[in-house]
Amino acid sequence: HVTAIQSDWMAGGKANGAVVLITDVTRDRQVQRMRSEFVANASHELKTPITSIGGFAELLTTGVVNNPDKVRDYLARIQSETARMAALIDDILRLSCLENSAGEPGDRQPVPLRGLIEETIANLQPQLEARHVTVKVDAQDVTVQAVPDEMKTLVQNLLDNAVKYNRDGGSVSVLLQRQAGGLRLEVADTGIGIPYEDQPRIFERFYRVDKGRSRKVGGTGLGLSIVKHVVAKYGGEISLKSAVNKGTTIAVTLPLS
Ligand code: ADP
Repeated sequence: HVTAIQSDWMAGGKANGAVVLITDVTRDRQVQRMRSEFVANASHELKTPITSIGGFAELLTTGVVNNPDKVRDYLARIQSETARMAALIDDILRLSCLENSAGEPGDRQPVPLRGLIEETIANLQPQLEARHVTVKVDAQDVTVQAVPDEMKTLVQNLLDNAVKYNRDGGSVSVLLQRQAGGLRLEVADTGIGIPYEDQPRIFERFYRVDKGRSRKVGGTGLGLSIVKHVVAKYGGEISLKSAVNKGTTIAVTLPLS
């Protein structure tokens, strides 16, 4: 974007000087485009459960469905679509909070990561049992100075994915260790893996390798994007190694200051 501001410092009708302002607005435009894309995607994602809730509610209120099993089934669907919407809104708010507070440290407290990992696994027990997935933890006692909720979201999303995209009877390994200047957290699974061409994109908002599968397992498509934001906030790095039908390993390194 070029603005030429001609000086009024004129001599005999000729300009003796001029100011040319060159502003690089590439980034601004990119941010603007990303924002409106996000709003469009979020609205679309929210519309799907709303349409379905509306449809089932209509069927129930018109009184044409009187088979009690059908009524129960429709009510259960309304309930699960409502849960889906709630999860989506939670993730959208979390992401927007992280973006709005970018650059601010937040209310940091000592967060013992091993305890957090164990608690997250305990909460995942129903899903683990349903899929016969086992978890192995090899964790050192590492405490990080962080906003507790943000660390919780990070650990939860990585473990959630390792179970959701696993195979029945598969396994998950969690490694937590101190390393020079920081910590390393690795979550490895024996699941479906991520095709090579999708790997660079899975940290993008709403990017899913298989939309149908992600929806079925309760995904919002925002988990890894939230994880990436949290890692960036703490000056860390995230990397991914994956092979289709073999499994995925996501490694996060965070500095410990
Ligand atoms: P979702 O809510 O859909 O799980 P995420 O942002 O957490 O969204 O992940 C984005 C996509 O990356 C997922 O839909 C899935 O296709 C893929 N993915 C994430 N983690 C794994 C994993 N451990 N194994 C295989 N695919 C994964």
